[in-house]
Amino acid sequence: LKLNRRHTRNQSQVQARLEALKNAYRKNTETVDEFPAPASSNSLFKSDVPDYESVDDLVTAGNRNFENLDNIDFAGFRNNRKLGQKTLTTVKEELNAFHADRTTDGYREDLSRVLNARYLQGHGVKVESHLDSGEMRTLRKYIQKETSTNNVADSVRAINSSLKSGVEEVGTLTLNAEEFLFTERGVSAQVFEQKFAHRPLNELEKVRDFSDSWSTSQGAKFLNQVQGENFNENRNSMAREMLAANGYQGVDALELDTVLSLLRDVDGEGPRTNASVRNTVNQAVAQGETDYFVLSNQANRQILKDIGVTEQRLSKLDVSHGQLRKAYPQEAPRAARATRTRVLRDLLRVLPEAERDQALEQLDSSGANLIDAEKKLQKHFGSRISALTNGQVEFEKMGAMQRANFTASLHKLPGEVREQAFSGNESHARNQLEKTIEERFGIEVFRDAGKAPNGSGKDNPFIKDWPVQGLVDLFNAMDGMANNGQLPNDLKGNSTICYVEGSGPSPSMTVGPQPISSDPVGPWNQPGAWAHESGTSGYFGMCDSSSGHDLVYLCDDALKGSNADSAESVTIGESTIIHEFGHAIQLGGTPGAPKSVRDAEQQVLMAEWSSLSDWRESDDLLADGRIGSFEYYYDPTVQVSKREQVATSYGASDPCEDFAEYTPFFFKAPDVAMELSLEKFLYYNDLVGEHYSADQVSQIAGKMGHSADDLQRTRSTLSKKIADSPRNAGLRSA
Ligand SMILES: [Zn+2]
Repeated sequence: LKLNRRHTRNQSQVQARLEALKNAYRKNTETVDEFPAPASSNSLFKSDVPDYESVDDLVTAGNRNFENLDNIDFAGFRNNRKLGQKTLTTVKEELNAFHADRTTDGYREDLSRVLNARYLQGHGVKVESHLDSGEMRTLRKYIQKETSTNNVADSVRAINSSLKSGVEEVGTLTLNAEEFLFTERGVSAQVFEQKFAHRPLNELEKVRDFSDSWSTSQGAKFLNQVQGENFNENRNSMAREMLAANGYQGVDALELDTVLSLLRDVDGEGPRTNASVRNTVNQAVAQGETDYFVLSNQANRQILKDIGVTEQRLSKLDVSHGQLRKAYPQEAPRAARATRTRVLRDLLRVLPEAERDQALEQLDSSGANLIDAEKKLQKHFGSRISALTNGQVEFEKMGAMQRANFTASLHKLPGEVREQAFSGNESHARNQLEKTIEERFGIEVFRDAGKAPNGSGKDNPFIKDWPVQGLVDLFNAMDGMANNGQLPNDLKGNSTICYVEGSGPSPSMTVGPQPISSDPVGPWNQPGAWAHESGTSGYFGMCDSSSGHDLVYLCDDALKGSNADSAESVTIGESTIIHEFGHAIQLGGTPGAPKSVRDAEQQVLMAEWSSLSDWRESDDLLADGRIGSFEYYYDPTVQVSKREQVATSYGASDPCEDFAEYTPFFFKAPDVAMELSLEKFLYYNDLVGEHYSADQVSQIAGKMGHSADDLQRTRSTLSKKIADSPRNAGLRSA
């Protein structure tokens, strides 16, 4: 999966993360669609309503004996309006035995008590009869506030074990649950006691959310050293520690808003652009600069210089504060300047060098400045698309960023492929590209609009026929992953890829999350963040390998986004497809093998990868995608020690996202991949059957300053780690 965090203008990073966490799912879930009635004890008088001795009896009768808490589809339960109505009707009938009069306060109390009990039971809580209606409500509200299945399951587990050990007081039950959530993230009992136990619950929830959102998979590192007595102080100390951990210096001189804005920028960049931003900001801060917009502007100018835009060219584009104020009366000139620089950087960075040179010449000859550069480039890219497609493909509705993406991908298409594709009209181009991709790479390009691609024959309104731009990205992605025309591993003959527009979250997960009333993190207007249009999906791509056949989805957002966290000159569409095929390489096991075998294979591959950057589950075993019988995903209790080896912030959300985010760099920017980790590079290269030859590896290693000895040494530590990883993941005994 890869989501587009810029999708909704008003969506804060925290909300985007929570959204992602909410959509994370535990597999093999069962939807709770009824509470089985206990057998009636009275067989002489048959009745639809079972007999209860008391209301207490009625309350606890709903404790359904779920075999495994993690199999319960909590969100499905929350969404199930029908079940809600049915439960209400049943409970009213059952209460008849105890309340002849439905107008009394006693009746209303009992009704509320049983309904809250049913909600809790639907989440796996084994309620006990000593809980009165107010206590049930408090517990229900606590569980309801958690919007990720991981948090719900963990807090329910803690509540059940507290109830079992005799805890009755509801405040203790919720505090124990909260303590468990902190402990699972690596906070020691002592630290919890000292820093958190005495504080209001909602404060602790905010601290935990902040840590999950901003240092995903590093909770232990930042929660344990948190300073301060309230959320604001905690956030202040954590944000500074987090930014410093990313190599930023002089952080104390900056205001909190600036610290948070820089942290948010770290989240959106790849390894090389992050390094540029960091170095530029560090130098500027050392010279006394503290304004976020000035820092952002300088950082993006540096990225433009990194891709070959000279200082001379940049100064030709420069405009005065007055010009900016006139063009953007709503914005402060320094904010507008930062935005325009960011937009220019996005439009130029995605281009291959030759196209970038042409674009720059165009800016020169048309006398462009920072304000009108986007408009002029949009027109220029239109003429490039027209030239590269023999005028056969429509582009008029595309914004500047989408045109830049399309220009970049078309330019990379091999000459003969381009000629064949664009020798007729647009429909010919689609057919020809589909045929070329299928014949050359042996994957299925699914074009049956409105139909699910999994062979079920079901309708799926989000599936559309491929646009030409998507097919061009697809060709480039496959071409980049192939070696002598061969795709790695089992991708050939075992993959279907389709195109999606406006895909909603999976229906059972569309629970209304509790919106954060006052966003504890803000401010959110990253310069340029909303300058480019977004697709309607909210996702860039998805991959489902659970059947053993890889189903990959490319979403419309990926045709329109900027390539900030991808390698230079690689479109977000192309890198998304490679990301999703990365999942296909790691997950799903041998096609056609029994599910249990494929699951075991998948766990071993995940454990091997986890051993490299040291991804661990909360019990310290290597992360292999499973705790007990369920598969976790985006679980903040699964943490990484060597965060600096993870390619992007999104990669730090889960070990399998780490793998998928590393994949485009491995295939398209091997020096960046090796810079992140020599071990990971060598492991990946082995896994995909030596995409790079021994000579090529030595060459890249030489360029990155690794000697032949380094390579040798790394290979031997690598093979030991790999050999030990199944045992260290608890997969087999020593
Ligand atoms: Zn992914």
